[in-house]
Amino acid sequence: MKRVIHWFRRDFRITDNTALTAALQSTQEVIPVYILSDWKSLHDWTGAPRQEFLCGSLHALSKNLESIGGRLIFRKGDAVEELEKLAAETGASTIFANRDPDPFGRGVETRLAVMTEARGIGLSLHKDVCVHERHEVLTGQGTVFRVFTPYSKVWFSLPKPSPGSSIKQLITPPGIASLPPPQLSDWGLVPTASIPEPGERAARERLKRFIAGPMKEYGGNRDTPSVVGTSHLSQDLRFGLISPRQVFTAAKKVEEELPSEGRKNSMKFLTEIVWREFYMQLLWHYPEVMNQEFNPTWRGMKWPGLADTPDAFERWCRGRTGFPIIDAAMRQLSATGWMHNRARMITAMFLTKDLHLDWRLGESFFMRSLVDGEIASNNGGWQWSAGTGADAAPYFRIQNPWSQTKRYDPQGLYIRKWIPELKNVANAALLDPPSDGQSIAPGYPAPLLDHSTERDRTLECFSKHKALRT
Ligand SMILES: Cc1cc2nc3c(=O)[nH]c(=O)nc-3n(C[C@H](O)[C@H](O)[C@H](O)COP(=O)(O)OP(=O)(O)OC[C@H]3O[C@@H](n4cnc5c(N)ncnc54)[C@H](O)[C@@H]3O)c2cc1C
Repeated sequence: MKRVIHWFRRDFRITDNTALTAALQSTQEVIPVYILSDWKSLHDWTGAPRQEFLCGSLHALSKNLESIGGRLIFRKGDAVEELEKLAAETGASTIFANRDPDPFGRGVETRLAVMTEARGIGLSLHKDVCVHERHEVLTGQGTVFRVFTPYSKVWFSLPKPSPGSSIKQLITPPGIASLPPPQLSDWGLVPTASIPEPGERAARERLKRFIAGPMKEYGGNRDTPSVVGTSHLSQDLRFGLISPRQVFTAAKKVEEELPSEGRKNSMKFLTEIVWREFYMQLLWHYPEVMNQEFNPTWRGMKWPGLADTPDAFERWCRGRTGFPIIDAAMRQLSATGWMHNRARMITAMFLTKDLHLDWRLGESFFMRSLVDGEIASNNGGWQWSAGTGADAAPYFRIQNPWSQTKRYDPQGLYIRKWIPELKNVANAALLDPPSDGQSIAPGYPAPLLDHSTERDRTLECFSKHKALRT
């Protein structure tokens, strides 16, 4: 019987998996494989929460494949070389995979195309990570959108693909050598955070729970970090435990049953899914954002830091800045590998506009710490906050961490949850800088800077840079 390979990359599910379904339409004998990168040392972006979630999700995928008659093969090394070897060993005629929009993934796909062509092996790559890929949502002139709102209008206007069904059976030929499934210790890492349950079933449960409850009040709750008002699906979308098609269809189905107020909420939620795809298409069309500012005006900007506080970055990472909302957010990140979106914006703006540190430092720390670290969204979020990105917050719109606290955590619920030292501090002390500049609780640091002074410095830095370039 004809055999083919399905190469799992970031699509760890057996329901509505485009390339896997296509592989099974061509034959029943499928060799599912996951290839661990053979990087000798840790990449700067590799961190325990995401790798732990990856291992757990691969374990769940392996079990799911076994339950339908298959076996997940693990290999380690350069993906193209390993696929070449596996195809030669097994006589597989075609390699199926879902496309990856990241520059690294694209690079591998280009090399894979050369190898398969040279070896006479078929290559079948599919759209799966997005509802709409990079060339689908374009302006009337066929160019790429650089601004979100018109992008999202076109995105919503396009016909949507329906999710596919679950795979019921898959036969993996016997006798194929496999390494054991990866473990966190393979990267020399140990668990550091209490991460969500990995695997396709857990992701589907999260989607179900969100759609049945929080989605109906998403618009009102999504900016309140103390409330579980968002979907917590980012790591699931990151690893393809659910597809964006499943999310879109589930939200739309409920939307039809909702009164108009409820419909606005689901629309707001789906707009966030569109942000994800907006950033993915930007990264695809402008891969240079990985190294430089999207907006050419800000390329070459100097980020001078705080001259008298050399440990400012370390204090930001550890949640010891003396700004309760910042510290709560950073501690949530290290405890769970996840941070609320509003808090991501506040902490990112604080790093760039108050500490005057390069957004790439924060981008890298987030990638290392996040269970949902997604290159496109993380880069987009950081450049948005730094004021250097596509459709970004203009540089002069600088969030004040104290006003943000008053607006989004007025009762200090989020702050107290993550900073035990502040459990018994009066609310008022969390909402404004201490008038004497001193610590507000034993064991908790005094604010390391004055926001309005640093705000003025930021405005000056940006204006000077702009003047130099014009
Ligand atoms: C500085 C910064 C860094 C970020 N880094 C990442 C990252 O590495 N990975 C990541 O998935 N998201 C990132 N985001 C976007 C956003 O914060 C998270 O997607 C969101 O908090 C995840 O929680 P949720 O699943 O409950 O989101 P929900 O509010 O339920 O949104 C649903 C889904 O939409 C997508 N989404 C939501 N908001 C955004 C957004 N602003 N940009 C792009 N996609 C979005 C996510 O896939 C999310 O799961 C970042 C934002 C900022 C400001």
